[in-house]
Amino acid sequence: MKQEKTKKSLYVKLLQITLIPIFMLTLVITSFSIKSFATALHSEVKQGLMDLSSAIMTLYDQLYPGDYYVVSQNNEIYMMKGEHQINGDFSIIDTIKEKTGVDITFFFQDTRVITTLYDPEGKRMIGTRVNAVVVNDVLKTGQPAFYPSVSIGEEKYFAYYSPLINSDGTCSGMLFVSKPVKTVSSNLKKVIIPIIILGIVAMIIAALFTISFSKNLMRAIAKMGEFLGKVAKGDLNEKLDYHLSKREDELGELGRYAVTMQKSLSELVERDALTGLINRRSGEKKLQQAHKEKEERNIDFCVAIGDIDFFKKVNDTYGHEWGDMVLIKIARIMKKRMVGRGIVARWGGEEFMFLFNNCLLEEALALLEETLNEIRDIEIEIDETTKIRVTMTFGICQGSTDGLNLILKEADEKLYSGKNNGRNRIVK
Ligand code: GH3
Ligand code: MG
Ligand code: MG
Repeated sequence: MKQEKTKKSLYVKLLQITLIPIFMLTLVITSFSIKSFATALHSEVKQGLMDLSSAIMTLYDQLYPGDYYVVSQNNEIYMMKGEHQINGDFSIIDTIKEKTGVDITFFFQDTRVITTLYDPEGKRMIGTRVNAVVVNDVLKTGQPAFYPSVSIGEEKYFAYYSPLINSDGTCSGMLFVSKPVKTVSSNLKKVIIPIIILGIVAMIIAALFTISFSKNLMRAIAKMGEFLGKVAKGDLNEKLDYHLSKREDELGELGRYAVTMQKSLSELVERDALTGLINRRSGEKKLQQAHKEKEERNIDFCVAIGDIDFFKKVNDTYGHEWGDMVLIKIARIMKKRMVGRGIVARWGGEEFMFLFNNCLLEEALALLEETLNEIRDIEIEIDETTKIRVTMTFGICQGSTDGLNLILKEADEKLYSGKNNGRNRIVK
């Protein structure tokens, strides 16, 4: 349960440190793109309005040379430019509006005199006034100004005001050109929505990759944990997951080290260090297995126990190290003889247990005799004149469904009867 929690928190952490930056990055890139695009669009609108404003002024200067002024007659106000009245005819500004979508207004001082703007009742907004900010910014300074959001009636506009400067340098009014914010923002939306969608799609793809990678990693770590857990509990036959062992990354390497560790452990636990034979513990397991197979499937087996004759004398005469050498040499012969026939285990100090698999007594006996003959022929040369030679005594019996202890006891008894009857023999 605790382990499950650890795994889960690692997975959550992994997702946190990858998904949060992906999300933030997408957010930053998307909003930066939107902002840059909006800024570019706004400056384009501003430039467009400025160009249009100067084009209109040039057009009016060419059509009607002279200054802007008003004349008042019979309670009517006439806006004049040079010799011409320009507020009677809206066709020029209406045509420009039709072609460009831009609203145009001529102000005399702060009052609309010619305009393409209409009020909600459908009347041109003539006679209405500009707000105080524009009066201060443009009329009083004689400088043009751009506003990204000007409210006129219900509508919001990008607006550019340029002063109408007369030949004597005085400012008689303003030319206003503007574009409704909603027409610009609908263009903006056309570009921004794909950017947002693209950003979200990129984020989802990156997130899916991250989630799948993290899941895969967690699965491999979990498999590794499972394997190590079993090895730690002493299961030295557990197999590491195939895919994990074949991974070419650090986890695969870790898995292979774990398998090597398992093999080393199993060597330590199951093998005798001096002779390299399997030890008694492991030999007993093999015996139990053979016994089980006899019980379940009637597969025959034979057991022999052998002991080196007068081994104490070898130690006493030549020293313990030469004794070890004898053990190693004998073990090597026994192991070689038993390849494919069964196993031989170091049963005690100079005692060995043979398990002949799928074998009847006569066949096992023949094999054991060959082994004993080879042992008798061993000569371990200490110096030119001294050689160690040893013999062994064996007790051998056919395995049965009787208890294993009984079978081993029988082999042991035969071994001791051999010892008592001159040694260097096999008793069956
Ligand atoms: P027997 O023919 O009756 O078996 O006589 P024995 O001398 O072989 O029997 P005994 O039990 O008196 O002596 C066994 C000796 O084996 C005593 C012990 O020091 C020696 N021995 C046991 N294990 C090792 C080992 O790992 N290395 C060496 N060099 N000697 C060992
Ligand atoms: Mg002994
Ligand atoms: Mg002995």
